[in-house]
Order: sequence, then C-alpha cells, then structure tokens
Amino acid sequence: MRNIDLIEKLTAERNLPNAALKLLIESNEYDTFLFEAADSRRKEIYGDEVYIRGLIEFTNYCRNNCYYCGIRRDNKNAQRYRLSKEEILACCEEGYRLGFRTFVLQGGEDPYYTDTLICDIVSEIRKRFEDCAITLSLGEKSKESYKAFFDAGANRYLLRHETANDPHYRKLHPDNMSLQNRKQCLYNLKDIGYQVGSGFMVGSPYQTTDTLIQDIRFLQDLQPDMIGIGPYITHEDTPFSSFKNGSMALTLRLIAVLRLMFPYALIPATTALGTIHAQGRELGLKAGANVVMPNLSPVGVRKLYALYQNKICTGEEAAQCRGCLERRVNSAGYRIVTAIGNAMKENK
Ligand code: SAH
Repeated sequence: MRNIDLIEKLTAERNLPNAALKLLIESNEYDTFLFEAADSRRKEIYGDEVYIRGLIEFTNYCRNNCYYCGIRRDNKNAQRYRLSKEEILACCEEGYRLGFRTFVLQGGEDPYYTDTLICDIVSEIRKRFEDCAITLSLGEKSKESYKAFFDAGANRYLLRHETANDPHYRKLHPDNMSLQNRKQCLYNLKDIGYQVGSGFMVGSPYQTTDTLIQDIRFLQDLQPDMIGIGPYITHEDTPFSSFKNGSMALTLRLIAVLRLMFPYALIPATTALGTIHAQGRELGLKAGANVVMPNLSPVGVRKLYALYQNKICTGEEAAQCRGCLERRVNSAGYRIVTAIGNAMKENK
C-alpha cells in the first residue's frame, strides 16, 4: 500500500490491523502524511483551540514504589512536601484569575489525604469555582472513594494505565501492584461518570512495538475522553537510572496515530515532551495534541515534584508560565482558549 493510502485508511476507519500499525510506529517514512492528516483531523473537530489545565502538584509523598518514578517511596533523596487545603485553594484562586477553568490535583498516593480530606478540598473548590472542571489524579483508590470524590464535585480523573501488557507492567512495578487493578480502576471511574484520561509513557524500559499496540488496543476498549502520553525520562534516584530516555520522534508519531484513531480525544502536549526537547510541546500540538497543562503549584515546591530529571517550568510564577505558553502555542499556529474544554462528542 502507498504511504498516503495507509494514512487515509487510518483516518477513515480509525483503525488498522496490527501489522500496519507496526509499520507506522516503526518507520519514519509515513511521518509527513501522518502529521498532516492528524493536524487536519484535529482542526476539523477542535479548530485551532488549545485548552489549558492548571496543574496543582499537591503532594510528592507516595506509598508506591514504581521503578521509573522519582517520587517513589524508596527514594530517600526526595525532599517531601504536602500542600494544605488553603495552599491548594490559593493556587486555584490564582489560576482562576489567569483564565484557568480546569484544575488538576495531582499527587503521589499519599495516605495523609484521607477521603474525607480530599472530599473537603474538592467540595470547597466546587463551591468557590462553580464554572470550573475539577480533575483528580491521585492514583488507585477503591470505587467507593472515587464515588465520594465524584459526589463532592470532581468531574474528571487522570490515571495512566502505563502499559497494557502484563509482563511489561510487572517489569515497571513491584509485585503489590497489578495491571488488572489499574484497569479496573479505570472502568470504575468511567462507570461512576467521570470523564476519564488514561495513557502511557513512550520509551519506558522494556517497551516494544507490540506492547505499544496493546496500549492502543486497550484504549480502544476503554474509549477515554483524554489520552496523555509523554516520553519516559530517566531519574537518577530510581532502579531505572541506567535506562535511556524515550524519544521525541516516537512520541510525536504516537500522538498523531492517537489523534487519527481517537479524533475526539483531548490529547495534551505534555511537560515531559517539553522537557526532552525545547520545542517538544509545540511539535506535539502540530502532531495532533490540543491541550497544555501548565503548572500552578507554588514555585517553592515545583522542583520537588520530580517524577523525572530536568523537568521544565519549575522556576516561574504561574502568570509567567501562562504568558510563555501563550507565546509557544501561538508560534505553533494555535490559540489558547479559557473554555472549560470538555471533549467534543460525535453526532452519530
Ligand atoms: N500517583 C498518580 C500520579 C502519577 S504521576 C498516579 O498513579 O496516577 C503522573 C504520570 O507521570 C504517571 O502516570 C507516569 O506515566 C508519569 N511518569 C512517572 N515517572 C515518569 C518518568 N520517569 N518519566 C516520564 N513520565 C513519568
């Protein structure tokens, strides 16, 4: 099949057999057509709009020990912090003033924040910012906990599945974690009524094209509203310190493939993508991404939320970040909008 035909088939059918996907993922031959098709698909549905999410990294304590993550429990070099309810609310106030209408509360799995405390924080944000979406990203919880957060006013939840291949999952996580539970959490979240985001790291240790195809197949089953992918970036204080970073080229290619397979999805150009390349986020937008997630955490703690090394945007105030991002998005040919930015729905 000619290169362009393969991309046209992917665009029309939102799917390809494994062998064709493998070709697309492993070769740079299709990139030109692929990126063009992804960008025009995104423009068809979302125009030139880029949605912004204010990220509040409220704790870097974590009870888990994921081998890739810099805030894993056993990293004794990590200096730990927690934000109080008042500090979190102050981040939201500042964010609201800057035009953010989505707040993302992300953290390690930190038992200090009991369900009662999370519900208290969420309901206060809900009360003060009626017109905003509240997104949580707190890891794996029971269905009851997820339901309680939802009832308190949360609407969205981000939980990357990380890898949909069981042996690969085992290589990235200690024995007390399981892919089965991770998936179950995602289905529970959907069932409760959350807008759900999932995703994976690109170039994580032991990842192969076949595991990536399984990631895509899992996403087809889950049908998430949001899909977050970013390159794996090594952190020196983890068991994976000797592995190399994931590549930007592959991340961009996968963003484009995902845009064509999930045309209505919200896909962020992630901070990790901006970290491995100075123009990573701009290129991500051009490859089909339509969301950016600038940091609203207090500058004093930004460096401490170090999932990986050399993370960008750790020194600037929220307002500066917002300005910088505006320029970057414009330079890529798109524009930031302050709308709440729910996923578009297809008229079937
Ligand atoms: N505790 C929450 C939030 C995790 S941090 C949860 O379990 O969902 C958010 C994401 O950062 C993770 O899902 C993972 O995909 C990504 N991440 C972690 N370590 C990373 C690394 N070294 N390089 C790139 N991304 C990483």
